[in-house]
Amino acid sequence: MYDAILATLAHAPQPAQLVAVSKTKPDAAIQALYDQGQRVFGENYVQELVDKQQRLPADIQWHFIGHLQSNKVKYIAPFVALIHGVDSDKLLLNIQKQAQKQGRVIDCLLQFHIADEATKFGWALEEAQTFLRSDAAAQLTHVRICGVMGMATFTDDKAQVRAEFKHLKIIFDSLKTHFFADSPDFKHISMGMSDDYTIALEEGATLVRIGSLLFGKRD
Ligand SMILES: *Cc1c(COP(=O)(O)O)cnc(C)c1O
Repeated sequence: MYDAILATLAHAPQPAQLVAVSKTKPDAAIQALYDQGQRVFGENYVQELVDKQQRLPADIQWHFIGHLQSNKVKYIAPFVALIHGVDSDKLLLNIQKQAQKQGRVIDCLLQFHIADEATKFGWALEEAQTFLRSDAAAQLTHVRICGVMGMATFTDDKAQVRAEFKHLKIIFDSLKTHFFADSPDFKHISMGMSDDYTIALEEGATLVRIGSLLFGKRD
């Protein structure tokens, strides 16, 4: 399955990377995929990520893809390669603070609310625009905003999922034009999971987050 996914990515309309979502999976399963060449893994529980980072090969790039609480940023700040789900100014300011302490610049994606469901986290476009215009945003010297992330509604309706991905692409393009026209680092659209990643690639995804298709169903 790994090779089939890589082949699909290679044929995407834009360069796209696989984030292998290894949450709840044992070290051996991660090591096996690592041995096939995968280096980017995604986790969404802080403690689990910290434990795995200590045990597994040092050249793994760990992405945090879950909902991150501000008070837990400090545990992953020393090593995290990309934080996908940044959904508030408070969280950004905390990442700034912890990154500064570590002498690092931490790559982040802004999570947008594109789904129909009230439960999913994320900014609305106007909120993000207001923040990006603010003085607080100008002081994010140790945060690099590299793009956007979103999660589609959990539904079998592929047309709805596609429309939500299109919406995220429009948000990305708008922010790129108005705030990041001069930043080559603002280039990522993280969208698509096991069930919908081919649609996401067609709609512009540069990062797909795939778990169960690679590792089997989670318990
Ligand atoms: C678990 C998870 C995934 C992967 O889901 P699969 O359906 O197993 O591919 C992707 N993104 C986020 C944010 C997740 O929590």
